[in-house]
Amino acid sequence: MERVFNFSAGPSTMPESVLKTAAAEMLNYKGTGMSVMEMSHRSKVFIEIADNTKALLKEIMNIPDNYKVLFLQGGAWTQFGMVPLNLMTNSKKADFMDTGNWAAEAIKEAGRFGTVNIAASSKDSNYDHIPQLDPKKFDPNADYFHITSNNTIYGTRMTDNWPDTGNVPVVCDMSSNILSEVYDVSKFGLIYAGAQKNMGPSGVTVVIIRDDLLTRTPDNLPTMMKYTIHAEKDSMHNTPPTYALYLAGLVYQWIKDLGGVSAMQKINEEKAKIIYDAIDNSSMFKGTVAKKDRSLMNITFVTGDKDLDEKFAKEAEKQGMPNLKGYRTVGGMRASVYNAMPIEGAKALADFMKKFEMENK
Ligand SMILES: *Cc1c(COP(=O)(O)O)cnc(C)c1O
Repeated sequence: MERVFNFSAGPSTMPESVLKTAAAEMLNYKGTGMSVMEMSHRSKVFIEIADNTKALLKEIMNIPDNYKVLFLQGGAWTQFGMVPLNLMTNSKKADFMDTGNWAAEAIKEAGRFGTVNIAASSKDSNYDHIPQLDPKKFDPNADYFHITSNNTIYGTRMTDNWPDTGNVPVVCDMSSNILSEVYDVSKFGLIYAGAQKNMGPSGVTVVIIRDDLLTRTPDNLPTMMKYTIHAEKDSMHNTPPTYALYLAGLVYQWIKDLGGVSAMQKINEEKAKIIYDAIDNSSMFKGTVAKKDRSLMNITFVTGDKDLDEKFAKEAEKQGMPNLKGYRTVGGMRASVYNAMPIEGAKALADFMKKFEMENK
């Protein structure tokens, strides 16, 4: 069977060339006579892979030198807890934007360790937009201000609506749109992202943390919960997820070879436009979020008829476009078009939408 256009929200489609490289190097990585997954993480060859992976990420994200890049395990979910454990340690208060399910989970986890202040929320309208920010609702003594740059389930993203938080560091869950558009890392105190949407397979989580925030970690945290330990040991205190790290490195190289994140962003804007145009030009499909807040990565839409939605997802799957069913709290359809989704996939989906509409009038 041929490869499909996989619209899965995560784990999600990988660049085909990356999979081919990994396949070619599977049994014998560069003459070592072994697979990367069989190597000691302390071996010279693997240290080189890890160093190269980190250097590539610093390069393509233009990460300033006063930030540490950590490769951890446990997914974004673990960061929902690690962030407050390590950073919510002065005033024990933090501000949050409540923009979707993941933001809400981050809020719940942080609430175990301190006081959370919801600075803005769009929950009342089922998270169909990014809420307006009112700086009067910000706590000037907060230990940090938490945002989610892209709301995977609802299909919204932060655009120009960035909080001006003064000296309060911004912490961002970038799990579903890291490397999809250019971000100025110096505007953030900490960025975290699980790899399985835009950076490779699941199993590795990237944390980018500004040096001055590494002074807050309490002594009594479990070793593996401490950013300070991971920073000191260069993410090698224990065995890192070696194979996932190697694949993330291949993905970073793929982005670099394409022309970097700005080139990736242009392609993503083009892909998203193809699908949003198909929605806006149709009388059957409707987008579910405010246009100004539309995500480039997760495109949500409905027909307004549950049975028809189901039929759409089923027939699309038969046409080689699986995983278009929306998340249960939104319903309808969600097309996840991460970096690795080729533009042909967006075109195929738009064509199928037109055809489906004609046949189901
Ligand atoms: C997928 C996702 C998560 C959850 O990630 P895990 O790696 O499964 O813990 C959290 N936040 C956002 C924005 C996501 O897209």
